[in-house]
Amino acid sequence: MLAVSEFIATFCNPTRRHRLLGWATLPYTSPMRRILLIDDDRLQFVLTRAQFAQFRGEPFALDYAASYEDGLAQLLAGGHAACLLDYQLGPRDGLALIREAVASGCRTPIIFLTAETSDSVDTAAMNAGALDYLVKGELNPAALERSLRYALKLGDTLGQLHRLATHDGLTGLLNRREFDRLLAEETERAARFGRPLALALFDLDHFKSVNDTHGHPAGDAVLRAAAARLAAGLRAVDRLARFGGEEFAALLVETPPAAALETAQRLVATIRSEPIVLPDGSTLRLTVSAGVAALPAHAADAPGLIHAADTALYAAKHAGRDRALLA
Ligand code: GH3
Ligand code: MG
Ligand code: MG
Repeated sequence: MLAVSEFIATFCNPTRRHRLLGWATLPYTSPMRRILLIDDDRLQFVLTRAQFAQFRGEPFALDYAASYEDGLAQLLAGGHAACLLDYQLGPRDGLALIREAVASGCRTPIIFLTAETSDSVDTAAMNAGALDYLVKGELNPAALERSLRYALKLGDTLGQLHRLATHDGLTGLLNRREFDRLLAEETERAARFGRPLALALFDLDHFKSVNDTHGHPAGDAVLRAAAARLAAGLRAVDRLARFGGEEFAALLVETPPAAALETAQRLVATIRSEPIVLPDGSTLRLTVSAGVAALPAHAADAPGLIHAADTALYAAKHAGRDRALLA
């Protein structure tokens, strides 16, 4: 018989769990990766599918879009590990599609397919963001497979780099740089379409004493726990970032001031609700203060919005902490 703690440890460890259940000999199979082909010539789809069937390594599933619009929609829907894109795509070319996809935040690796070799097409494709460029007449299964695997590997690496550049290493939240970029984008959108946009700034109360009393690693654990609680209390469309050392920022889209204040108050209550468990098993009571401001009620642009929320946060600290105030 396994002791309870041993049983839990076994089930928390995938290898031990599989062994216990007798699955150790079953290989882990990940779902087949999907490749999207965008080409207005259906014959190219038939040819590509036949070449896929001759690949030597892990097989791929091939999806097909016959038009610019369908291709763009499928690409932006996500779910494809890579895309093969026809250069001459009816009246609009593949270059325009790649630019439109990249502008909409698409980071799927794209390989261009073209009818003939041309240095200018090659350069234009790379400049637009394609990872490779293949000439249809010269294609064979080995060359296609090699190019696809290279694009997938490079795509994975670029994805990891992007995550490192946009996220905070300690909490996993968006970092300040990415938050500033999103804030600029959202304030512009809100102003153009006359939509409300709110910002809530949170600052942990007396956090310095957590470090002083329990040590810096415990302070880090508290930061991670607070970040997770705040994130769990927001909608999927809202964006949460580590704004500074022990400060967090929530961008609440389509949210008027009263609703934003309510959200911030709910998050302040979430932090207060239960003590945080430290790595050594001891617990700690934590509170947070928040300042809330919204467009267009309290500011006209991104710097003004940050300033207004920061002023409200300062007021919340002075009013006794553990509360959210509106600008
Ligand atoms: P207040 O209620 O007025 O906000 O007081 P406070 O102590 O929270 O504010 P103060 O700005 O004096 O202290 C913030 C502390 O946060 C100081 C700094 O060492 C700590 N801090 C900032 N970043 C990190 C981090 O990444 N890890 C840890 N452990 N501490 C951090
Ligand atoms: Mg602070
Ligand atoms: Mg603080």
